[in-house]
Amino acid sequence: MEFGKVSTEQRLFRVQRRPWKVVLVSSWHSRLKNFLLGLLFVVVLSGCTSGSTRTRLATTTIPSPRLGEPSLQQTQLKGPESLPGPLTNSVSTWLAFSRWCVENGLGTPAILSSRPLRLATLTGLGEVVVEGGKPYMLLGGTAVFLAYPPRVVNSELLLNGLDLEKKLRPLACSRQNPQPIRTVVIDPGHGGRNHGATNVWDGSLEKDLTLDWAYRLAELLVMRGYRVFLTRTNDQDLSIAARVGYANSIHADLFISLHFNSVIPDQGQAGIETYCLTPQGLPSTLNRAFEDPMDSAYPNNAFDEWNLFWAFRIHRSLVTATGAPDRGVRYTRFMAVLRGQRCPAVLVEGGYLSNPTEARKISNPAYRQRLAAAIADAINQ
Ligand SMILES: [Zn+2]
Repeated sequence: MEFGKVSTEQRLFRVQRRPWKVVLVSSWHSRLKNFLLGLLFVVVLSGCTSGSTRTRLATTTIPSPRLGEPSLQQTQLKGPESLPGPLTNSVSTWLAFSRWCVENGLGTPAILSSRPLRLATLTGLGEVVVEGGKPYMLLGGTAVFLAYPPRVVNSELLLNGLDLEKKLRPLACSRQNPQPIRTVVIDPGHGGRNHGATNVWDGSLEKDLTLDWAYRLAELLVMRGYRVFLTRTNDQDLSIAARVGYANSIHADLFISLHFNSVIPDQGQAGIETYCLTPQGLPSTLNRAFEDPMDSAYPNNAFDEWNLFWAFRIHRSLVTATGAPDRGVRYTRFMAVLRGQRCPAVLVEGGYLSNPTEARKISNPAYRQRLAAAIADAINQ
């Protein structure tokens, strides 16, 4: 996975004047063209595999992790003590989880465990479970990363105030319905000389796998009546600025960037991660040594609530449909393709191409179809 670094923020908003290809509008001409393109692509892609036996879908089901299982425990987050200075946002206090739940219309949390202290209460999305020291909460069994692990003080479980306001409240307490989605922009990650990661099972490239996934998702959404656009429809190396500018120029209602992950030489890590832009005032889950300016606000921060809404819904659907390890809804600023979006935006890492078992699954077109269907189902719920 490689994400281009944008040199200046201004560059994010420059719309390139190039003859964009708009795909999958409902004309026979474009349908025929896309069918032929898709057919050609499948033929090309099948050349990357090394035989039907190697691409057979694995039947082993990997159960979703529960609180404390290894795939999520590996994540190292900076604790509050490592912050460079005090938070400037007014909601920087630590609040008792039990009291916050009652004051916000949720029931008094039950104590699931006292050592470690783990509390749970019911929400409209299922049970929310939080635990002292764990960097994520579970909501209906789906992991959502917190900026700060909850603290236990005098037998009371405390959560950061901004974590509660920006993460739990929108999911557990919001009564608002999202703006209806009509136009979706799908962004197949990488392209051209930017290959992305390499699949350790068959040598296929992330840029080709994301394009195939995007076509599959686009077709499903078009069949359900959505207007769908792809930032690239061929093996083209696009700048981050071009991807952002394109989505903004057609006034997308939802932007979805598709990627696969890799952590070579570690072959053990596996699972699905879904990212959205970190709200102002909080540290990111992941910054890959890029700066993580907590006080910065980007255009896409205007959609914090809906970024999380769609990230959660898409992530839950993907993990449920595939049985892949749940590596959580996560927050980032360095993924510049999210920052300038003027609509809700998410980035999906659909599995680890560096993990042989997961790489083998991703090599299988049927598995990529399942990934596409899971996102389409989440949008069309
Ligand atoms: Zn990538």
